[in-house]
Amino acid sequence: LRILGIETSCDETAASVVLREKDGSGRILGDVVLSQLEEHSAYGGVVPEIAARAHVEALDTLIEEALLRAGVKLEDIDAIAATSGPGLIGGLIVGLMTGKAIARATGKPLYAVNHLEGHALTARLTDGLTFPYLMLLVSGGHTQLILVKGVGDYERWGTTIDDALGEAFDKTAKLLGLPYPGGPAVERMARTGDPKRFDFPRPLVGDARLDFSFSGLKTAVRQAAQSLEPVTEQDIADICASFQRAISRTLRDRVGRGLKRFKAEFATVSEPALVVAGGVAANQELRATLQELCDQNGFRFVAPPLQLCTDNAAMIAWAGAERLAAGLAADGLDVAPRSRWPLDNHAQALIGSGK
Ligand code: ATP
Ligand code: MG
Ligand code: FE
Repeated sequence: LRILGIETSCDETAASVVLREKDGSGRILGDVVLSQLEEHSAYGGVVPEIAARAHVEALDTLIEEALLRAGVKLEDIDAIAATSGPGLIGGLIVGLMTGKAIARATGKPLYAVNHLEGHALTARLTDGLTFPYLMLLVSGGHTQLILVKGVGDYERWGTTIDDALGEAFDKTAKLLGLPYPGGPAVERMARTGDPKRFDFPRPLVGDARLDFSFSGLKTAVRQAAQSLEPVTEQDIADICASFQRAISRTLRDRVGRGLKRFKAEFATVSEPALVVAGGVAANQELRATLQELCDQNGFRFVAPPLQLCTDNAAMIAWAGAERLAAGLAADGLDVAPRSRWPLDNHAQALIGSGK
C-alpha cells in the first residue's frame, strides 16, 4: 500500500508518501517538512492566522515534492491521509480540503486522521512494535500518557491538567528572556547550571492518578527569577537546570506509575515498551530519565528519530495505511475538521453519541 499523507495541524506544513507491506512493515518513500518557526518566532508563539496562510502557500508544492522524492505519481497512490484534528482550525481546513480535492480528483479513498493517532502509531513504522504498548506524548500542545491497544483503539491514562510540557518550556524560556522555541534554549542553558540550587515543586508527585501539571512549576520559576533581580547568566543557567531536574523527577514518578499499571494489566506481555513522541522528546535529560526508568522496570524504551517525533506527514500517511490495512472504513468527503478531538475510546464514544 502506498499512502500520501498531509499534515497542517500546527506550525509545520508536511507531505509524505509511505509504503506499507503486507507483513505490516513500512518504509518512508518521500518526506518533506516545512517548519514555520521563522514566521512565528517574532511573536513568541504560533499565530493561527499566519500559520493557516503559510500552509496555503506551501502545501501544493510540498505534496509535489514528496511524490517526486518517492518516485511515484498520484495514480500510484492507494489512499490519501490528511490530519483532520486536533489542532488549529485554519491549518486543518487547508490540509483536509487539499486531501479531499485530491481524493475527489483521483477517486482514491480519504482517511481523516487524528494527529495523535499519527504520533501513537509511528513506533510501529520505525521499530515494528506490536500492540499493546504505552506512549508518552510530550509536545507544545500535548502531554499525554496513552495506552495503544490497536489501530483505532486507545485509552488515555493521563493528561496535563494545565500547561503542556513543551508549553512549560516555552513559557519558562520567555520569562527568563530566552529565545523561542524555549525547549532547546532552556536545555542549552541548563548544561552549565546547578540543578540543586532551586528546589522547584514537583507537581502531582505521589498522586494516584496518572495526570500531569506544570503551571505551578512555571510560577515557581517566575518567583525565583523575580527574587534575584537583576539575574545573572549563571542564575538563569541554575534556574534552567533546576527546572529540568524538577521535570525529570515529575516524569519519573508519573510515568513510573503508568509502567506499573501496564504491568499489572498486561502481565502476559513479554516485552512491554514505552514510546516517547513529541518535540520535547529531543531533551537529553528527559530521554536519559525515561531510559533509566524503563531499564528499572523491564520496559523497552523506544525513541523514534527526532524528525518523526516532531510533527511530520509520514506519521499521518502511516496511520492512514494502518487504518486501511486494518479494514477500517475510509471517510466521506463530507468529513469535517475538528480542532478538539481526543484520541481515547471513551471520549470518541461520547462525541459519537452527541453528548
Ligand atoms: P503539537 O503539540 O500540535 O503536536 P507542536 O508544534 O506544539 O505540535 P512539536 O513540534 O512536537 O509540538 O514540539 C515543539 C515543542 O517541543 C516546543 O514546545 C519546544 O519548546 C519543545 N522542545 C523542542 N526541543 C526541546 C528540547 N530540547 N527540550 C525541551 N523541549 C523541547
Ligand atoms: Mg511544531
Ligand atoms: Fe504533534
